[in-house]
Amino acid sequence: MAIQWFPGHMAKARRQVTEKLKLIDVVIELVDARVPQSSRNPMVDEITAGKPRLIVLNKADMADPAVTDAWLRALKSEDVEVVAVDAKHSKGLKQLITGAQKLMKEKHDRMREKGRNPGPIRALIIGIPNVGKSTLINRLAGRNIAITGDRPGVTKRQQWIKMKGGEMELLDTPGILWPKFEDQLVGYRLAATGAIKDEILNLDDIALYTVRELHARYPEQLKERFKLETLPEDGVELLEMIGKKRGLISGGYVDFEKASELLLNELRHEKIGRISLETPADHEMA
Ligand code: GDP
Repeated sequence: MAIQWFPGHMAKARRQVTEKLKLIDVVIELVDARVPQSSRNPMVDEITAGKPRLIVLNKADMADPAVTDAWLRALKSEDVEVVAVDAKHSKGLKQLITGAQKLMKEKHDRMREKGRNPGPIRALIIGIPNVGKSTLINRLAGRNIAITGDRPGVTKRQQWIKMKGGEMELLDTPGILWPKFEDQLVGYRLAATGAIKDEILNLDDIALYTVRELHARYPEQLKERFKLETLPEDGVELLEMIGKKRGLISGGYVDFEKASELLLNELRHEKIGRISLETPADHEMA
């Protein structure tokens, strides 16, 4: 989804989420397991303050499992309720529901003590574009629902989607929040994973950032994918080597743009394996 985030849109998106918070018990915040910190909205803590929140590391199938485990441990040690999910293949949905139930347990126990039936947990899914909100809603609902999202500027009536097991109800329009734009490194991480369009940053720069990260974090996977025996330290040389291996030569030189596109395509289509571009050690995530 291509949303141009102007200050007016940000204000509107924020207002739309704030309005919805009044209707719900729990916020389900989706982030990308490969870049859990960079794929958060910079103001999400402030915007959702006061509501119990479950953080969902989505696209866990594409992320490095060891790094995802490290994120889960780091966040749990800070008392954050967090689960790893692969919405596309409906993995981790049970843990997600258990996580939401845990957040509501005390309140629900109190209601039951007073003889009241707490009913299903009402939840709102929020996250930046492309993080998997619509996919998750469809999987939790157990059917395909046309999710238009609420594009900044479009309003529609809210509806509740009942979940298969009846434990939860979801608002049918997820809350779409903007990613962080101000930090260039965050921009590269989001672009590398395909969360933001390549046009926003220079393609060569995204590819250079990516090849350097892969060299530092996943050298063996890089060697194997591109049949390289050694990896040059220099990112430009490395990208050229990859281009050469794949025959991307024009006029006697490696076509740098084509090599950049190839690398990013292969990363985004999991051809280089399961990759995470951010670890808890890189960041403090609270
Ligand atoms: P939204 O903009 O947040 O609603 O994101 P979508 O639900 O439209 O998902 C964006 C893209 O990510 C789609 O191509 C989905 O198929 C894909 N996607 C969503 N969740 C997952 C997941 O857990 N694993 C993988 N591999 N892809 C996913």
